[in-house]
Amino acid sequence: MAEIIDGRTLAEDIRREVREETANLKSTRGITPGLAFILVGDNPASQSYVKSKEKACVEAGFYSITERMPAETTEQALLDKVRQFNEDSRIHGLLVQLPLPKHINESKVIEAINPKKDVDGFHPFNVGKLMIGEDTLKPCTPAGIQEMLVRSGNDPSGKHVVIVGRSNIVGKPIANILFQKQAGANAVVTVAHTGAKDLSVYTKSADILIAAIGKPRFVTGAMLKEGVVVIDVGINRVPDASAKNGYRIVGDVDFDSASKVAKAITPVPGGVGLMTVAMLLKNTLKAAKNLSSPG
Ligand code: NAP
Repeated sequence: MAEIIDGRTLAEDIRREVREETANLKSTRGITPGLAFILVGDNPASQSYVKSKEKACVEAGFYSITERMPAETTEQALLDKVRQFNEDSRIHGLLVQLPLPKHINESKVIEAINPKKDVDGFHPFNVGKLMIGEDTLKPCTPAGIQEMLVRSGNDPSGKHVVIVGRSNIVGKPIANILFQKQAGANAVVTVAHTGAKDLSVYTKSADILIAAIGKPRFVTGAMLKEGVVVIDVGINRVPDASAKNGYRIVGDVDFDSASKVAKAITPVPGGVGLMTVAMLLKNTLKAAKNLSSPG
């Protein structure tokens, strides 16, 4: 049976480290990391994500502020708000919760964020820096995956990492992080997607398999090599009559069959999802230090 890579413990470790460093930054340099959220519209999932991130900010000792804007907000009004936070010296990180209403161009909004405050790591400037292996604000979910691998004793160096999925928020950035000639990376990376004729050919050759597909229990044990390390990024709702709300959350990996083959595996829930908020805090602390350093 596979060892469980426990996202809860790892995320708590990171949050404690951030809390301690924040207290130190406050007492030694008088700097309080500040994170601003902009939430447009009333998407219930976005509201609950922002709420949990606000709570995490309080626990970390950050200053945080949330700007709630109505669904009919114009693109210009949103861009103005972004610029206002760009210029606000109390704010070191700015997060515009996605998705935005259809009439607003997301790329335009992301590009308006000061790259030094782009704690989501989605600005093309930071994406480019990530690609060429320079120090930057890394997108939170992929950065969390790297931390999980390293902190659980599964350093990717020299390993064949197979990523299923090539989205801009997970698949592409995790590939860019893990193939760099750097500590905690240096893997040989394959990125698979719907263009693969026989996906199993790739998944079976993985030492580390990262599933970011968006399909419940899609990767089964039969598609994996004995001793693989499995990172399941998927968050999917499936109907479950026995659950209070009528559904439950499962990953992109069929946990029962995969855990019989794998050496180690992340559960869903309780895995990658918890790392994302922890990495947002870590990015904000980093941005605060960078913005407060001379030069
Ligand atoms: P996405 O944008 O929908 O991308 C899915 C990727 O999977 C695409 O590249 C797609 O290939 C590939 N794919 C889909 N079906 C496939 C198949 N049958 N064979 C091979 N490849 C296939 O999804 P995403 O935003 O990356 O999210 C992926 C999952 O992670 C979702 O469940 C999401 O909820 C979850 N997620 C979790 C977190 C977290 O904090 N834990 C954060 C973000 C996302 P093509 O490019 O060829 O279409």
